[in-house]
Amino acid sequence: MRKLVYLSLGSNLGDREANLRQAMERLGTLGEVVAVSSFYETEPVDVVRQPWFVNCAVGLQTEKMPRQLLAALQGIEKEMGRRRQQPKGPRIIDLDILLFGNSIVDTGGLTIPHPALHQRRFVLEPLAEIAPEQRHPVFKRTIRELRDALPAGPPAVRKLDKLHSPRINADQRGS
Ligand code: AMP
Repeated sequence: MRKLVYLSLGSNLGDREANLRQAMERLGTLGEVVAVSSFYETEPVDVVRQPWFVNCAVGLQTEKMPRQLLAALQGIEKEMGRRRQQPKGPRIIDLDILLFGNSIVDTGGLTIPHPALHQRRFVLEPLAEIAPEQRHPVFKRTIRELRDALPAGPPAVRKLDKLHSPRINADQRGS
């Protein structure tokens, strides 16, 4: 059965925007990319002494089951050259499952909704662009409400201008 899944994409090494675009192309092999947010430049959290990230959110229609999808995302990370070194450290590409329809999953190292989804502006800001009315299946609040409830102030999240927006948007519109 096809499910609408929301993913977070991030990169802070090399050509960050090109890395996000390349990851989106590869996501097309797992289903249909139906929504893409703007790109945002974001201040690192947890490990703060590392380059700033570029992040976006993507809506993907897919037949895959949650664990299959996670394995496929890890395959894309590996193909794109990601090396797992310092936890939460710099990475060419990071692909996280934020929401999987209205499913709640918590088994064997996979947690959906993503456990930090409701706490992170770098996730909620792009996701609120493409799925503002989507409801978090555990907290029962919409993505817009969760975004609006975040405390103001750092870490910084800045929307990049159109020059840096994902080309895939323009392609989808046929312009
Ligand atoms: P990361 O370093 O952010 O790529 O973390 C990847 C690890 O988080 C993997 O071992 C996954 O099993 C685990 N994980 C748990 N929940 C999720 C999720 N919703 N999306 C992606 N990875 C997850």
